[in-house]
Amino acid sequence: MEFKDFNFKDELMQAINKAGFTEPSPIQKDAIPIVLSGKDIVAQAQTGTGKTAAFGLPILQNLRRDGSVEALVIVPTRELAMQVSDELFKFGKFLDIKTATVYGGTSYSRQIKHTENASIVIATPGRLLELLKNEQININPRFIVLDEADEMLDMGFLDDIKTIFKFMPKERQTLLFSATMPEPIKDLARKILIEPEFVTVTKKDMTNTNIVQSFYVVEEYERDDALMRLFDFKNPTKSIVFCKMKRDVDRLATYLVSQGYSAKALHGDLEQRQREEVIKAFKASTIEVLVATDVAARGLDVSDVSHVFNYQLPFDSEPYVHRIGRTGRGGKTGAAVSIVTPSEFRSLQKIQSNIGAMMEAKVVPTIDDVKSKKHTGFMDNIKNQVVDPAVCDMIDTLKEEFDLSTIAYKLLSILTAKDEVKGKNKIGKSHQDIAVLIERLKNDRGGSGSRGRNRGPRSNDRRPSRDGDSRGPRRDNDSRPPRNDSGASRPRRDGDARPPRRDNDSRPSRPRGEGGGSRRG
Ligand code: ADP
Ligand code: MG
Repeated sequence: MEFKDFNFKDELMQAINKAGFTEPSPIQKDAIPIVLSGKDIVAQAQTGTGKTAAFGLPILQNLRRDGSVEALVIVPTRELAMQVSDELFKFGKFLDIKTATVYGGTSYSRQIKHTENASIVIATPGRLLELLKNEQININPRFIVLDEADEMLDMGFLDDIKTIFKFMPKERQTLLFSATMPEPIKDLARKILIEPEFVTVTKKDMTNTNIVQSFYVVEEYERDDALMRLFDFKNPTKSIVFCKMKRDVDRLATYLVSQGYSAKALHGDLEQRQREEVIKAFKASTIEVLVATDVAARGLDVSDVSHVFNYQLPFDSEPYVHRIGRTGRGGKTGAAVSIVTPSEFRSLQKIQSNIGAMMEAKVVPTIDDVKSKKHTGFMDNIKNQVVDPAVCDMIDTLKEEFDLSTIAYKLLSILTAKDEVKGKNKIGKSHQDIAVLIERLKNDRGGSGSRGRNRGPRSNDRRPSRDGDSRGPRRDNDSRPPRNDSGASRPRRDGDARPPRRDNDSRPSRPRGEGGGSRRG
């Protein structure tokens, strides 16, 4: 099935093409025809699977453009309101559709004025209800969407939402989208939707296969060291680190900065302005590591997050699904890495079995592992480096004192000297330790076993694998296994080696890759 099979208006197709969407995602294939047909719908699919377009496109198709607010989208957070508004505006651009946002923490008058010119209003529940109660806006939308409904439940918005519907017309099409379907959401659906169609992207499809999931087992006091070692080894371009508590977020962000990483904290105690600035900086790649609580990172759509780290495990599998959904977005690959202590091991297994995911047990790389990976990267960089003509004079001067190979040795030593890896050599549990933990869990379950029903994680049988060969986030430098033929031991006399010419492929290569990630110093 393709987008053209939906018979969308030309202007809408044009916007879809411009957005680079080639094929509808599974939830879009299922939901769009239902929404187009005018039926109510309850749709469940994991985060990052394209739910916004799943309701946005058919609504845009069916708008009358009669000058009134025809559609209302209710979302949990201000960030999501802006994000959804941007996306719908993008798709409605050629149809000349205007969107407006309504959320707390900012001036009323401008928002109210904007809604008067919009066909679609995207709102958070609190402010919307306030405006409705005070009769500051009067809207009669034909389409009402509850987006990320489970998150609104978690944030305590359910009562507000029920009240909002008292102000809404009876004649309407109601759409409910959610990553998970806890009972109160089903209950809400029964109350406010009329004979809805149910669409669920199955559990198998729910595990976003673009996300490679793994875990490391460490002692409580080793979490910081393990995290930094993994940064050094994996070189994430952009990552989100999740903690359970705000105070952990603050402490960890401060500590990472003190260790030379470019990190910032994001949690609910920050002023709205500060939160926006942090998210903006993260999107613009000014900061590489975002340390966040679950709530603060809700629904965040930053397209190029390469890694999600669970510094601590969440309490349940639902937040886990939300967390890892921050990576592997829009068809890109991502990695989700959990750092767990032996006492979290049971929760980890539970999450695995609940979401039917395969998580690979791994061992934190040693200092040597990091170094050998970096050295491979250095060598690749040297191979690809285009020679800057300005260095020729320097080399000529040096050659008055040293031969070329000595100069090369010295240069490379300068490069690698900067490359100290901090922390103790071995961090966390070995394969054997992990195997023992898995065995112990199995025996626990085999015993009198009132502790847990249905806890049979399939990954129990999996052997933990070494990390050195991590295939996870496919970064260029991963592909090349470390070489052992230390060719450097045979210095070759190279006469008067002329530097190669600058060729057409000459990217001025700042030693990115190995040197560029969230690096210290
Ligand atoms: P969800 O609401 O399910 O978490 P979003 O609607 O935020 O997911 O979409 C996640 C990302 O995927 C967005 O960046 C969006 O632009 C992109 N996306 C959605 N549908 C498609 C598609 N059919 N093809 C390519 N990218 C898509
Ligand atoms: Mg969404």
